[in-house]
Amino acid sequence: MEQPICLVGIGKIAVDQHVPAIAGSLDWTLAATVSRAGSVEGVPSYSDFDAMLSERDDIRVVSLCLPPVPRFDYASRAIAAGRHVMLEKPPGATLAEVHALEAMAHKAGVSLFATWHSRMAKGVAAAKAFLANKVVTEAQIMWKEDVRRWHPNQEWVFEPGGMGVFDPGINALSILTEVLPAPVHLQSAVLKFPENRQTPIAADLVFSGGVKAEFDWLKQGEQLWEMTIRADDDEVRLIEGGNRCVINGVEAQGTMLEEYPALYDRMATLLKAGARDVDLAPMVHVADALTLGRREIVAPFAF
Ligand code: NAP
Repeated sequence: MEQPICLVGIGKIAVDQHVPAIAGSLDWTLAATVSRAGSVEGVPSYSDFDAMLSERDDIRVVSLCLPPVPRFDYASRAIAAGRHVMLEKPPGATLAEVHALEAMAHKAGVSLFATWHSRMAKGVAAAKAFLANKVVTEAQIMWKEDVRRWHPNQEWVFEPGGMGVFDPGINALSILTEVLPAPVHLQSAVLKFPENRQTPIAADLVFSGGVKAEFDWLKQGEQLWEMTIRADDDEVRLIEGGNRCVINGVEAQGTMLEEYPALYDRMATLLKAGARDVDLAPMVHVADALTLGRREIVAPFAF
């Protein structure tokens, strides 16, 4: 049976991914939206979140597609109103607020899902399975894209809490923390801040265990979302954002569902089990980079 769900924040990712994923699912029906400006044709829309919560008792699940800074406020109100909640990545602006949400959800007995869409990319499960019993000796991540192409005029990414290049970079870290058989920790970082911005536009990270990452938000031409992980003589390559996995030169079988349908499938499973899924490992690395990273000032940035 289809479960009514409400989407909050009808921006780029809601329109590009959440609306089609819900429309294509047998588990969900889009029963309302909450937005200051946007709407989805044929779906009741609210501009006031509290009004939706009080008027729509039929809607027990809320999916928050807002940027990270306003998310805690919406999530805490939803949980207080007894709703199950899905959080876009990154799950909050700070680690502490997501821990607080988890505690609130536990107390209220509702499901909370801190989603990491890149973990659902089709090649990730094969990489994780192959590496499960291996000792990783080296890994190199290259996550290089054009912010003007993927985040046109989204000023919030350069405001405090917007995380800058870590907004895409955390996707790479969500894959890394999923597939590595043992955790690593950050040892050093160089963060490049445009002189007129609050968040970095590029970052080089060095982790324990021979793991390195390069994030760049000014990449023109070919966009790069890939990582190579070595375990002695074995090599695992995740390319196209983790959607293809090549192990020792041979393409591995991928999973069936696209990333966002897989997230909604997982939320349906969590709901049935009365469970929560809140893994903050990718965000810990970002917080560590912002704590430990050496800051370099670079040319100003304008969209
Ligand atoms: P966006 O289009 O700039 O913003 C999403 C919506 O959030 C806006 O349309 C706005 O909705 C609402 N919003 C923005 N600021 C708000 C505020 N201060 N208070 C209340 N509502 C506010 O951003 P997006 O690209 O969809 O990204 C949203 C989240 O999805 C981010 O965490 C991002 O990391 C994640 N994500 C984005 C992409 C991508 O390709 N863009 C991919 C995967 C994940 P209303 O004006 O309708 O209220």
